[in-house]
Amino acid sequence: MTGASELSRNGIVAESLVAVAFALQLVVAIGILLGSAYATFAGVTLLGLPDLSVYGAIIGLATLCLLAVAYVTSYAPTRLGDYRVAVTPTLALGIIFCVLGVTILIGVLYLLSYGRLQDALRESGELSRDDLDFPTAAGSSPQPREDGLVPCVHCSTPIRPTDIICRKCGQSRWAAGA
Ligand SMILES: [Zn+2]
Repeated sequence: MTGASELSRNGIVAESLVAVAFALQLVVAIGILLGSAYATFAGVTLLGLPDLSVYGAIIGLATLCLLAVAYVTSYAPTRLGDYRVAVTPTLALGIIFCVLGVTILIGVLYLLSYGRLQDALRESGELSRDDLDFPTAAGSSPQPREDGLVPCVHCSTPIRPTDIICRKCGQSRWAAGA
């Protein structure tokens, strides 16, 4: 790993926050998965409640999906330093977990991570702006011509290339003698 150590402070904080949020999500998810797996199994076999099995399966699948989405879109890219990829999904996760109510602590952690990711992005953006501008600035640099005006060899008055005689001193523009 090379360079940019001074701008990674926000990135490090973001990484820690995302890691805690994801770990908490993982713990909660395991609990929910165990519960939903039991509900799915027992709903049909023990309790005679097929609806309970359906709900258990849906909740279990949703929990797994959310866990996978959080890992792929937020946790993994943040760890890799790919803050641009992680920032929007992290915000979405924060909102989702806050809206779910019970998991508001996870939501707050993701929202805090989102803030730090933005700070990290802003810092890296300021540093790389010069690099981004460089190619566009090198595109075209045509120096504006001065209408092709050239100084008269005798009096130095600017004259047009089509002029045969200088309009100021009246001498031929090509004439070498006085
Ligand atoms: Zn002249």
